[in-house]
Amino acid sequence: MSSAHHPRFRAFTPRDLDGLLRRVSLTDDQRLALRAVSSVLPFRTNAYVVDELIDWSAVPADPVFRLTFPQSGMLPAPDVRRMAGLLAGDAPRAEVQRAAHEIRMRLNPHPSGQLDANVPVHEGRRLTGLQHKYPETVLVFPRQGQTCHAYCTYCFRWPQFVGEADLRIATDDIAATSAYLTAHPEVSSVLVTGGDPLVMSTAVLRRYVEPLLRIDTVRSIRVGTKSLAFWPYRFTTDRDADDLLRLFEEVVASGRQLALMAHFTHPQELRPPVVREAMRRVRDSGAVIRCQGPLVAGINDSADAWAELWETTTTLGAVPYYQFVERDTGPQGYFGVPLARGHAVFRDAYARVSGLARTVRGPVMSAMPGKVCVDGVAEVAGEKVFALHLIQARDPGLVGRPFFAAYDEGATWFTDLKPAFGASRFLPGLEPG
Ligand code: SF4
Repeated sequence: MSSAHHPRFRAFTPRDLDGLLRRVSLTDDQRLALRAVSSVLPFRTNAYVVDELIDWSAVPADPVFRLTFPQSGMLPAPDVRRMAGLLAGDAPRAEVQRAAHEIRMRLNPHPSGQLDANVPVHEGRRLTGLQHKYPETVLVFPRQGQTCHAYCTYCFRWPQFVGEADLRIATDDIAATSAYLTAHPEVSSVLVTGGDPLVMSTAVLRRYVEPLLRIDTVRSIRVGTKSLAFWPYRFTTDRDADDLLRLFEEVVASGRQLALMAHFTHPQELRPPVVREAMRRVRDSGAVIRCQGPLVAGINDSADAWAELWETTTTLGAVPYYQFVERDTGPQGYFGVPLARGHAVFRDAYARVSGLARTVRGPVMSAMPGKVCVDGVAEVAGEKVFALHLIQARDPGLVGRPFFAAYDEGATWFTDLKPAFGASRFLPGLEPG
């Protein structure tokens, strides 16, 4: 172990919300509104986030507070009033749950065809814990990894956490996963994701990762995680931290790339020394850390935040990868940043960082046809347009082809865009909406 100090993980759930909010001055109505939001959208944080990451003197503006604590604007006001009324009146649990379910169903819980278009079929069976959207990449959602050390308020995978079985994507059928990958040699990269797969013990993660090393066509393994930000002790002093790094070493020794797809939202997450120690240990294992996160209103919608994030992660030996656009689900109305403004933030930050940090792509929408990158705003033949291209696509023939959408200052998602120049489609094979 690398340190004499071994903090124990301690989670806080909606039951602890009132107590935690005592640190902030709020009226009873404001407190009730926050409880109302957390009865619909998931809430979970932990003692590290609360004690080490949040600057309580800056609350409620503090970015990490806004990143993990509910805010009343996250739901439409009538929904907040309805849930607050039920909670204040001590309504029966079933009634609260029924109302929460109704509201969730209006929040587009599975955008971009996640429950239907991306689910692979093997020998006549739907493998519902896998997603196969792009030919060379498969996502695996391990059953035991479908929580996180804390939940992001803007999370696009929020339905994984609200305890509604029909909304969850998860598998523990490792044999079926291996059989599918063996039958699909075009899949060269597997992304183990969640939730956060690093909430699992190393022993359980190993059950999912080791079989991948027996499939020659799988050349890289990615682990999607926010643990560096929300619980860096996972890589330093947790009981099985050393085992985790050994597992990473084994993947690298097999001749594959192990990429930790690290979710960072704000440079404040990189300030505690333990994060830097965790990143050093991960890099020493031979794994590569690639950093990504969404642009979210009220948390990181400034060029200062992104320039610092990209420069610092680069200095720490990680690779800036994607800046995402907030997806069209859950509280997008509250956290979404219009594409035009989002691109301005991206470009301003990109222009300030060194060439080493310009590995980042963005702003990127993970939309139905694929990963759509907003390249900029231009004037073509007298019309103001967005220039875009697909970084990834269900149809690989569409990758890398420039296309244009009519400029719309308020557009926040791909489905808001219309082809420029009065055309009926963006490209042959790429329709609007
Ligand atoms: S870490 Fe990812 S999956 Fe977990 S709550 Fe945040 S955005 Fe959602």
